[in-house]
Amino acid sequence: MNFWERIYLPAILKGMWITLKHFFRKKNTVNYPDVKRPFAPVWRGWHVLKRDDQGRERCTACGLCAVACPAEAITMTAAEREKGEEKLYREEKYAAVYEINMLRCIFCGLCEEACPKEAIFLTDRIVPSDYVRQSFVFGKDLLVEGTEPEKRIDVSKRQKHIQEKIWAAGGVTQ
Ligand code: SF4
Ligand code: SF4
Repeated sequence: MNFWERIYLPAILKGMWITLKHFFRKKNTVNYPDVKRPFAPVWRGWHVLKRDDQGRERCTACGLCAVACPAEAITMTAAEREKGEEKLYREEKYAAVYEINMLRCIFCGLCEEACPKEAIFLTDRIVPSDYVRQSFVFGKDLLVEGTEPEKRIDVSKRQKHIQEKIWAAGGVTQ
């Protein structure tokens, strides 16, 4: 080492100059969750199990979403609709239990594509963080949308963007 390297002073000053420069630079970080960055219109987040116009659950527990899921994140238990439950479930069969393990999910959207009943959609909601693994297994209480109009989850904007992308690529939509 030469003299200047041995006294370390130039290296310290150089380091401090770099630090000082960063004080005046535009920040790359945001104060989440107070500040949120805009999402891509086709963002894939927390799933929703939709109801139809009459508030009945659309899912018929056919299991196609679970078969399509590459992460094996979806499990369900099917049940037969009883007499008098026509207002609750649209089809004769419904999912008594429907669970998605959000720690396994890779948000690929294949479940949404596989569903023949337009029952499951991904939304622009972020899955909240937690310290307990079990809390990432989302059941129907966290997946099925509410019956009240203000508790419905609007997926139309995202779907419109997806359709537009398919059209732009020259594909065929349903
Ligand atoms: S988004 Fe993909 S990984 Fe997640 S549950 Fe659906 S199919 Fe499985
Ligand atoms: S969400 Fe759709 S694909 Fe999955 S079990 Fe229900 S109806 Fe079938």
